[in-house]
Amino acid sequence: MDVKHIYMDADALLEGHFKLSSGNHSQFYLQSAKVLENPRTAETLAEALAIQIQEYGITVDTVCAPALGGLIAGYALASALNVRSIFAERVDGTMTLRRGFDVSKGEKVLICEDIITTGGSAMEAAAVIERLGGKVVAFAALANRGFCQRENGNTTRQHNCKLPDTTPFFALADFDFAMYTPEECPLCRNGSIAVKPGSRGN
Ligand code: ZN
Repeated sequence: MDVKHIYMDADALLEGHFKLSSGNHSQFYLQSAKVLENPRTAETLAEALAIQIQEYGITVDTVCAPALGGLIAGYALASALNVRSIFAERVDGTMTLRRGFDVSKGEKVLICEDIITTGGSAMEAAAVIERLGGKVVAFAALANRGFCQRENGNTTRQHNCKLPDTTPFFALADFDFAMYTPEECPLCRNGSIAVKPGSRGN
């Protein structure tokens, strides 16, 4: 499956000069919501991810996604795995389970994101699950931003990857493009100004 082309076809692989939430700059930005606005595409991607997970041989009872970014990917993956779908959300900045969602002791939970960058939100959701007695058996995302190492992937684990290296991480592709501090950004050096993704309606 050519995930990069799916992102390009959906205008979800933006090229320009972006200021990321970390403060770093990049020439590219992934807008997964544009890919997932087509439910059939969401289904196709989730099914491919589910096959990887099933072939690996782990049992999953429930998929939990950190809202808002992971919501659609998590729901589609749960559907493909035919398991329960729940999501964690921030209340006053703290990740929590609401809406009557519960986790039973020993329940095997997979944490699903749209994109894993360093895995910060995924780890916050994992902490919620484990506090309630659940067991986080895997992490998954449609795409890996290149800081963590997925099963069968090409990128190596970077120091800023927050996912534990003892838990499998599944993704469909590695998007390993460069990120710069503002001081060392070659785009800035050429006189261009970085924009926050979303600030121009995207
Ligand atoms: Zn820049």
